[in-house]
Amino acid sequence: MRMAQDLVFVPLGGVGEIGMNAGLYGLGEGRKRRWLMVDCGVTFGDPVTTPGVDLIMPDIRFALSHGKAVEAIVLTHAHEDHYGALLDLWPQLKCPVYATPFAAGLLDAKRAAERDAPKIDVRVVAEGSRFSVGPFDVELVPVAHSIPESTALTLRTPVGTVIHTGDWKIDRTPVLGRPTDEERFRAIGEEGVAAIVGDSTNSLREGISRSESEVAASLGELIRNAPGRVAVTTFASNVGRLRAVADAAMACDRQVVLVGRAMARATEVARELGYLEGVPEFLSPDAFGYLPRDKVVALMTGSQGEPRAALARVAEGDHPQVTLAKGDRVIFSSRAIPGNEKAVGRIINRLIEGGAEVITDRTHFVHVSGHPRQEELAMLYGWTKPKVLVPVHGEEAHLHGHAAFAHAVGVPKVVRVRNGDMVRLAGGEAEIVDDVPVGRTLKDGRVLVSATEATIGERRRLSFAGVVSIALAFTERGELSGGVSVRFTGLPPRDDEGTPMLEVLRDTVLDCIDGLPRQKRRDAGVVEKAIERAVRGELQLVWGKKPICHVSVLGV
Ligand SMILES: [Zn+2]
Ligand SMILES: [Zn+2]
Repeated sequence: MRMAQDLVFVPLGGVGEIGMNAGLYGLGEGRKRRWLMVDCGVTFGDPVTTPGVDLIMPDIRFALSHGKAVEAIVLTHAHEDHYGALLDLWPQLKCPVYATPFAAGLLDAKRAAERDAPKIDVRVVAEGSRFSVGPFDVELVPVAHSIPESTALTLRTPVGTVIHTGDWKIDRTPVLGRPTDEERFRAIGEEGVAAIVGDSTNSLREGISRSESEVAASLGELIRNAPGRVAVTTFASNVGRLRAVADAAMACDRQVVLVGRAMARATEVARELGYLEGVPEFLSPDAFGYLPRDKVVALMTGSQGEPRAALARVAEGDHPQVTLAKGDRVIFSSRAIPGNEKAVGRIINRLIEGGAEVITDRTHFVHVSGHPRQEELAMLYGWTKPKVLVPVHGEEAHLHGHAAFAHAVGVPKVVRVRNGDMVRLAGGEAEIVDDVPVGRTLKDGRVLVSATEATIGERRRLSFAGVVSIALAFTERGELSGGVSVRFTGLPPRDDEGTPMLEVLRDTVLDCIDGLPRQKRRDAGVVEKAIERAVRGELQLVWGKKPICHVSVLGV
């Protein structure tokens, strides 16, 4: 019997979490499906759960298992949570990558800044364009978001049409770029939409999000009436926001200084593509020191509290060119991503300590989200009338809220998925039909490590209790030859009674050896195990912790 052709979707990341968006659409008959990958993003590590790891990426085993049946990767936009894993993972995939000029430009700039970055096969496609990828007919529908050229993907197939929204909002007056294309969505809705796979980030928030041009007006006012220097921090890729700041600066005769490499990179790409037409050239950080205080605005990286970014260094007083003082104004045109609040708070406190006035979205209207609230979701679903909704791009609460809201506004069916579920969207009942292996890949220094490896767990244990190394040797007769070498890192110098830790450890090792019958001392493995057990046990008693313990018995 011939298997029926269907269209399926498999999220590899981004469902049940914010970040690391990646998914695959499959079209065909069972094992003969052809695949199209949408996005390839990262999420960020943190010092407590993933010490030493900055970037976390999806495990793409499933995509790799299909080899050349993966026709291409299409990027919805150039935010890190959608394209940040590309440079690291593409060498395994090696398929063409479709990107708009802005995303392609940012990718190129990132490549140039990275050692050994691969030369990726990028096909530049304009917003609004339509092209074929294997059996998929892809249309990039322009949507408003917080980065230029964000697109929703419309995938037309013989069994039905699916809209993958990507990140979007309805902003009828964006500062730059095209507003969300209502007309196209209505037309696609007329053709019939089997399913929407959609952004859930703000699904718990009522109403409609405010426009970028309203933020621009508010920022303009805050820059105009500032008494001294002004520093604005925001995501470098939010070119509309950068443009708003530059326009406001120009209007009150201030010059714009860029501080932070990401700012320079993003504005260079934006300028090349005409997004900064009419805006005077930006100045380098050197200019900050010699311009009169009321004639300068600095655009800075570091809105998320990143410790190595410009703003953190300025706040700590160790930026070579930029200092802020009493009477200066710092505007956080941003919101801290969950997990970054502490780092952002620390910077705010340092800035206030230094005398600066700090303005955030808690005190003034200086930021809007780039994601749709409930009324916006209702509008899109009204235009396109999908038969099925699959909520993605959100934590559990967001996905749940999105599902409930979609039901309430009349979307006939909602299918909840998790990373690794294979959900049928068209060509049969919409439901989960399979599951595939998923996971996380950690970028540890320059090396990619599976999250299932012991590496990071061991590092967490190290950070909690340190490590002890013991080395010793026996003569042929089973006598201790020379002394016992004991070293440790991360242990307190003395135990709870004040005995030096080194003494505690050495005595424990000697006692342990004394208790070992001579013939057992011939087996290095047995001796090592016995000493390790004794040392960890003793430390549990005198310290309350069991560090990692390495024992080496030499020359038995
Ligand atoms: Zn996103
Ligand atoms: Zn985004």
